[in-house]
Amino acid sequence: MTATPAPLIGLSPDELKTALLAAGVSDKAGAMRARQVWNWVYVHGCRDFAAMTNLAKDFRALMAASFSVARPEIVTEQISSDGTRKWLLRSGGQEFETVFIPEPGRGTLCVSSQVGCTLNCRFCHTGTQKLVRNLTPAEIVGQVLVARDSLSDWPGGDSGKNAGENRRITNVVMMGMGEPLYNFDNVKAALAIVADGDALAFSKRRITLSTSGVVPMIARAGHEIGSALAISLHAVRDEVRDVLVPINKKYPIKELLDACRTYPGASNSRRITFEYVMLKGVNDSLSDARELVKLLKGVPAKINLIPFNPWPGSPYECSAWEQIEKFAEIVNRAGYASPVRTPRGRDIMAACGQLKSESLKQRASERYAEVASGQLAK
Ligand code: SAH
Ligand code: SF4
Repeated sequence: MTATPAPLIGLSPDELKTALLAAGVSDKAGAMRARQVWNWVYVHGCRDFAAMTNLAKDFRALMAASFSVARPEIVTEQISSDGTRKWLLRSGGQEFETVFIPEPGRGTLCVSSQVGCTLNCRFCHTGTQKLVRNLTPAEIVGQVLVARDSLSDWPGGDSGKNAGENRRITNVVMMGMGEPLYNFDNVKAALAIVADGDALAFSKRRITLSTSGVVPMIARAGHEIGSALAISLHAVRDEVRDVLVPINKKYPIKELLDACRTYPGASNSRRITFEYVMLKGVNDSLSDARELVKLLKGVPAKINLIPFNPWPGSPYECSAWEQIEKFAEIVNRAGYASPVRTPRGRDIMAACGQLKSESLKQRASERYAEVASGQLAK
């Protein structure tokens, strides 16, 4: 028996079985017990071992003493006037955000992969955050669990009567804070649980991983994770993309698109999404639109035009609405349907690219205040 309960969330089925054996469960019972616990935790959202009623009492006691199914702590939950929800979560001394976007007939959960981001895309708030660390599998899966808890969205919550139906969260997108392909192993481990039919059971078609273009990891993501792919393209010429998405200097547009052409599983029924943030006077000309369409010829693509979401101190402006419409029309005529993404949750800073752990900002401003007062005292 371990002294402090070990985290159970985020373990793979094999790791869970090994952990049960180490906690004293017999080898024979291990596999079955692991499956039962797995079902309670990921299908019913059970947070209390004592409530796992089909398990023997002494086994439940052993589990409670050895393991924890704790989620990241909710620091704040904000609800936008449009129904979008944003949770600020804390775990291991760090804070990160998760956003739920309800739409008619679907609900998308936007999950973070890192605290902050090492890349510094010029238009992205997260990229301005100093502190960065990778989130663990437990913290990534934990975001989905927190959201299901808060939205009462457990399929087994009503004894499994509505399993798989009427879920509020229908899609998971790795589009929160961080670059998921710079935290590959943890994202892969977490998404395996999100996609596991006996766990959170999201179809891989309903899981999307968005990358700024870490080219060498794209094929691996296809083979080993197998989710849908989104690419933060944002510019059609290297000179512009070098500035907006600096990783482009390492992996320019041509290499990025080559990796997309060979992305495992991409086809006309499983298209790659190209995200394109609309920045006034920077990347929104009609010749950019025509170039975009040309560039994506031969790639099974969807285009997602994202009106730029401003944040305090952001160096860009959102394109004028008429310009977005004209740009979209060119994209539309080339056969891409409904390309403009409606901004959601802007009033609570939950929209694309607005995420940044608030408390870090506060701490940073406290630091500045201290420095300033130190200087005054001199
Ligand atoms: N790091 C990954 C995933 C997180 S960002 C990536 O870059 O793809 C999710 C999406 O929001 C990306 O397409 C990103 O470029 C976009 N985005 C960032 N800042 C934005 C802003 N201020 N307004 C609109 N979209 C933004
Ligand atoms: Fe990082 Fe993505 Fe933001 Fe770029 S857009 S700084 S890769 S989170």
